[in-house]
Amino acid sequence: MSEREVLISGAGVAGPALAMALHRHGFRVTVVERAPALRDGGYKVDIRGAAVEVLKRLGVFEAARAADTAMRTVTYVRGDSRPVATLDANLLMGRRGDDLEVMRTDLTRILYAATAGTVEYVFGDSIASLDERPDGVAVTFAGGATRRFDLVVAADGLHSATRRKAMGEVPLRHLGAYISIFDLDGDLGLDHEEVFHVEPGRMVFAYSTGAGEPAKAGLVFASPVLPRDVDGRRVLRERFAGAGWRVPSFLETLDTVDDLYFDSLSQVELPRWSAGRVVLLGDAAHCPAPSSGQGTSLALVGAYVLAGELAKGDGHAAAFDRYEAVMRPYVARNQELGRKMAGDMVPGGRVKVALLHHAMRTLRFNPWKRQIIEQVTRPLHLAANAIELPSYPMAAAV
Ligand SMILES: Cc1cc2nc3c(=O)[nH]c(=O)nc-3n(C[C@H](O)[C@H](O)[C@H](O)COP(=O)(O)OP(=O)(O)OC[C@H]3O[C@@H](n4cnc5c(N)ncnc54)[C@H](O)[C@@H]3O)c2cc1C
Repeated sequence: MSEREVLISGAGVAGPALAMALHRHGFRVTVVERAPALRDGGYKVDIRGAAVEVLKRLGVFEAARAADTAMRTVTYVRGDSRPVATLDANLLMGRRGDDLEVMRTDLTRILYAATAGTVEYVFGDSIASLDERPDGVAVTFAGGATRRFDLVVAADGLHSATRRKAMGEVPLRHLGAYISIFDLDGDLGLDHEEVFHVEPGRMVFAYSTGAGEPAKAGLVFASPVLPRDVDGRRVLRERFAGAGWRVPSFLETLDTVDDLYFDSLSQVELPRWSAGRVVLLGDAAHCPAPSSGQGTSLALVGAYVLAGELAKGDGHAAAFDRYEAVMRPYVARNQELGRKMAGDMVPGGRVKVALLHHAMRTLRFNPWKRQIIEQVTRPLHLAANAIELPSYPMAAAV
């Protein structure tokens, strides 16, 4: 089979997962990551349905399961810190069966560790230019090197620079909110517990995966599109001024945060995920927005499918077509979910916040609590399983 040399841009979730699957199919893979090392930031991410099966087929499910956050409860609190209601975390977050929740950092580390011995990783560099020729792509790196690859994969996230080089600027679909994630000092007294505090137009959450483990906080606020180079720290201070619960102390922490994750809730919708020998993967292709809770799962499933289709060896054009045909209905279903849930994340007014609190309070004592929550989270479960995973014969993991 020809077309064996693949360059992947981005060592987030999609990049290392694809590297792993491609290596198992006999490809030679290089991953270039702009950051000087694996990026650490981020909250916990869900791995659901079909993506769990992908982890099993790739042989890293047990490692991921060992890293499960094992969160016990979710508590909604008022501005004065009095609890509204406490509910079971797995139930409320719609996890079923073998579904997992891991810290994003743990997942990227697991995927990296499983590939570091067989895949070439280049950190602190990025693609400066792509020159597609009939027999491959000549890539010039920002660090000055020039190399030739058969195929280039853009797995460099929502704002993919590789996508821009191959397809030009593409408009993002803004879902009307921004999200920020950062580490806090100390555990906030939380032990496998998560706390949510909702105010009109803004929401705060924090958790710790164990007594003594530093807590992480997330801030979400409704907003029209902001300039890409906006000062996230300044915006957060403005938007969360006067917020209740422990938000004032969270804002103080912002000064010392190293890797602040600050981004819009946006989706990528494109008529085509490839241009010539360049193909898009994960958020770069079809970001469903953090509100869907499905970005990581889509990235894992996409990596598995893309590698499997390329391994059929009948040329990249046919493989890219099949990759889209398999993935599109699943992606569409999850993007629809992301749009719907974005509206629920930041309730618009006091009445909506009061209704949310009322629903949580009454659920607590409802004997049909489990059935009701399972019904409410059913669309998430269906979307997470809305793909029949093809079977691709792979060499055993090494
Ligand atoms: C630091 C960080 C924290 C996150 N936290 C959350 C979170 O808390 N909740 C949530 O729902 N989603 C979060 N996400 C997004 C989530 O990881 C993705 O939606 C999902 O896992 C799909 O992964 P991906 O690999 O497609 O993209 P990403 O995980 O975004 O990974 C993209 C990778 O590409 C790298 N990169 C970017 N530009 C270039 C370039 N020009 N050249 C080379 N490499 C480049 C980035 O540094 C990153 O490592 C976070 C992403 C990052 C990068």
